Amino acid sequence: MPEKTDKLGNHAIVIGGSIAGLLSARVLADKFERVTITERDQLPETPEARKGVPQSSQPHILFARGYSILEALFPEIGKELHAAGAIPIDWAREFHHYNPGGWNATAESASELVSFTCTRPLLEWTIRQQVSQLPNVRFLKRCRVIGLLCNPSRTQVTGISVRHLDESTTDELSAQLVVDASGRTSQAPHWIENLGFTPPPATVVNPFLGYATRRYRISPGEQSDWKVLLVEHTPPHNTRLGYLAQVEGEECIATLGGYGGDYPPLDNEEFLAFARSLPSPKFYETIRRAQPTSPIQAHRATANRMYHYERVNLPANFVALGDAVCALCPVYGQGMTVSAMSAMVLQDWLGRQKANSHAFNSSRFQKRLAQSNAQSWLVATGQDSRFPTTQGASKPSWFTRLFRGYTDRLVQRTHEDAELHTHLMEVAQMVKSPAVLFHPQVVLKTLLEGRRSESVSSWEK
Ligand SMILES: Cc1cc2nc3c(=O)[nH]c(=O)nc-3n(C[C@H](O)[C@H](O)[C@H](O)COP(=O)(O)OP(=O)(O)OC[C@H]3O[C@@H](n4cnc5c(N)ncnc54)[C@H](O)[C@@H]3O)c2cc1C
Repeated sequence: MPEKTDKLGNHAIVIGGSIAGLLSARVLADKFERVTITERDQLPETPEARKGVPQSSQPHILFARGYSILEALFPEIGKELHAAGAIPIDWAREFHHYNPGGWNATAESASELVSFTCTRPLLEWTIRQQVSQLPNVRFLKRCRVIGLLCNPSRTQVTGISVRHLDESTTDELSAQLVVDASGRTSQAPHWIENLGFTPPPATVVNPFLGYATRRYRISPGEQSDWKVLLVEHTPPHNTRLGYLAQVEGEECIATLGGYGGDYPPLDNEEFLAFARSLPSPKFYETIRRAQPTSPIQAHRATANRMYHYERVNLPANFVALGDAVCALCPVYGQGMTVSAMSAMVLQDWLGRQKANSHAFNSSRFQKRLAQSNAQSWLVATGQDSRFPTTQGASKPSWFTRLFRGYTDRLVQRTHEDAELHTHLMEVAQMVKSPAVLFHPQVVLKTLLEGRRSESVSSWEK
């Protein structure tokens, strides 16, 4: 008699060893005897930017919702991040946010909106360290996936074809489940088509946003009361934004952004001039005195792109998640949290499967994932569509216009009301549903109390 096991199968494969892949592997490790993460990069031993994640050198906000999922999956992660130099942040107290007319009021007491601010390589490396400790997970590095394998009747995926990049050899690996987490440049739609299936249709909303990022050393005595600072763009005409975050090593990551092809420059003097053009001088004043510690690095692959896997028939035993399905414009800081939520959808879906099942119904997973991604997609594409230069922009319905009018008013009120700002952060960081913004007390404060401040002098706290 075969031994009884609560595992779903012997082997699961994850394509891509970045945030979505690592979190998926963590979840799969509970349900499969073995999990293999295939990654084309040589994953570094220390926190370093790497080629396969070209956005590594750009700033990465970790939302409170994303962090709470990380904590649920890796109970030691907070301790590890802290030990590695990541800086704890309370978003209600230590995030300073400028939008037309002023800076937000900040909360006086501690909130539950907490996570860490650090560089993207440090965060990814810390998660990777945690995953490496799982006894049934292995990394297959410098190994590029080049296609999917299937059964003779082409109804089920049975594994992957890979190229070992150092030996230039190809190989086949079999598995009961294959998870694509290969990011924005995922080739899975072509692989599926090669098996005879219709590839998922894509929706693209491109705001032509460019980032330019540089790291600076913060001089002693220059410590401020903020840990993250954002001077926000304002559609339809103000295309520019500035983002500053304290990170490990007493450094600060400074990013300029421009919508509609108003790309920030890479030359030092022009970078400073762009910073100076922001509607608040705080960003410029901070970096002007600071010591640069890196070159200025650009990133322009920022379009929102959704593959609608939920709309097509898929072979069993193959699912896709993370940026491979839903790649979002980075300004809204949602991507890693969306990946963490995707891993939770995977965990829930796996929990509904029967042990030693021969076919996992991929379509059900993709439908649940589409529901999970929907709000973030609406936020990013809805805001980006307010710029006339955005390609693929959606036309706002009367409801959207009403909602925007209300939230624009609410944002104005956050200049004087810290509680409203905390509510806005709870929704933006996906900790609470947007319904919070329509609680009678919030509506009352937004619509009836206070006056819109148009005072230029209120730019600076
Ligand atoms: C400029 C920029 C700024 C961003 N800022 C934020 C932010 O502030 N907050 C936030 O939450 N998110 C942010 N994001 C989004 C975030 O980077 C992603 O959402 C997050 O990394 C999750 O992506 P992923 O794991 O699905 O894919 P990726 O991180 O892109 O990783 C894909 C992985 O798959 C590997 N791979 C690809 N193809 C193959 C193959 N054929 N075989 C083997 N391996 C393969 C790659 O090497 C890589 O390791 C930003 C993105 C950009 C572009």
